[in-house]
Amino acid sequence: MDHFTLRDGQLYAEDVPLARIAAEVGTPAYVYSRATLERHARVFREGLSGIERLHLAFAIKANPNLAVLRVLADAGYGADVVSGGEMARALAAGVPAEGIVFSGVGKSRQELERALDAGIGQFNLEHEPEGMALATLAAARGITAPAVLRVNPDVDAGTHAKISTGRAENKFGVPISEARAMFGRLATQPGMKLRGVAIHIGSQLGDLAPLEAAYTRVGELIAELRGDGHDITHVDLGGGLGVPYRPGDVMPSPAEFGAMAARVTRGWNVELMFEPGRVIAGNAGVLLTQVLWVKPGVLHPYVIVDAAMNDLARPALYDAYHAFEAVAPNGRRMTANIAGPVCETGDTFAMGREIDAVEPCDLGIFRTAGAYGATMASTYNSRALVPEVLVDGDRYAVVADRIQPETIMAAERVPDWL
Ligand SMILES: *Cc1c(COP(=O)(O)O)cnc(C)c1O
Repeated sequence: MDHFTLRDGQLYAEDVPLARIAAEVGTPAYVYSRATLERHARVFREGLSGIERLHLAFAIKANPNLAVLRVLADAGYGADVVSGGEMARALAAGVPAEGIVFSGVGKSRQELERALDAGIGQFNLEHEPEGMALATLAAARGITAPAVLRVNPDVDAGTHAKISTGRAENKFGVPISEARAMFGRLATQPGMKLRGVAIHIGSQLGDLAPLEAAYTRVGELIAELRGDGHDITHVDLGGGLGVPYRPGDVMPSPAEFGAMAARVTRGWNVELMFEPGRVIAGNAGVLLTQVLWVKPGVLHPYVIVDAAMNDLARPALYDAYHAFEAVAPNGRRMTANIAGPVCETGDTFAMGREIDAVEPCDLGIFRTAGAYGATMASTYNSRALVPEVLVDGDRYAVVADRIQPETIMAAERVPDWL
């Protein structure tokens, strides 16, 4: 459920007409709904109400905007971060350091040091040398680093290959078969408080079965580790729950997901951590765009919009589907291709799709753009960096400026020997 709805023939974000935002902020622009973010945060937490000790960390790579993070911090969410930059954002948005989990397959020594100095809640170790380096850095500071070991359960999450992370050949985690021996070597390091395990098998999962299989393997591993004498107090089960992108898509609900998680983890007697990203932010945002031209095509006309792959990369990266709707639908329909201005054939949002009939100057939205949208934006083709707007009831604020090419150019130099 979201708060982007038609009222008197006009699309609104909560109580603000999207046409007003387009007139005042310009297009393209991301528009987020605070009420939708809060609702998703609440519903996800309620789904996990069967779990006694719970820590929720929003995977901020899905949407690292400071205002979005503040909304989620106020809803009691910590942050799952994958870089020093994301850690800085989480802290700046008011996420308490102890609520921050540091994931990521390539943390630098400098990032590890900064995170130790900030006193973050947990390091999710990706391999043994990283754990050894962290232990050494912590010991040098006279502290112990709270950590869990990320294991790769070799489960096919059944999602797009580029967002599948839990198969043996993927780069993430350590093979579950080697986890026990590695755990033993790491847990004895001075400076290391190795207290559990983590997994994250992929994103946009539409089926609970792979998650259940992975959680079950984690349960077996916990029993083995305890049998080896380790004190297992924390388990991080990652994120990955999918969201509906197409009309008619049915995804497992947070309640169904939570019931499965509670059933599989019964008796584990640990603090359970989850790192939802997309399921919180995906449907809480749209990309607002204007039709520039309608150009004849061989089979269907091309609707050329002012948003492009640099603003919303998912269709070009993952062949992703984003529903398109007119902001003021006129009741007619057309079959069209939708493309952006970037000089790449991949800059195409849809081919041969039935959509609201639109003409040049009409406004439209791409739905479900609140996750992995603005955060992946670039300035490719020397386009501006897309702005972000947060709506709250009948008010809104620009929460990230449009960065113009002139500003980007100002950071470039032509050396005086040219
Ligand atoms: C990307 C990621 C997540 C979030 O995934 P979603 O599919 O957005 O829920 C959680 N944990 C880790 C380690 C990730 O890399």
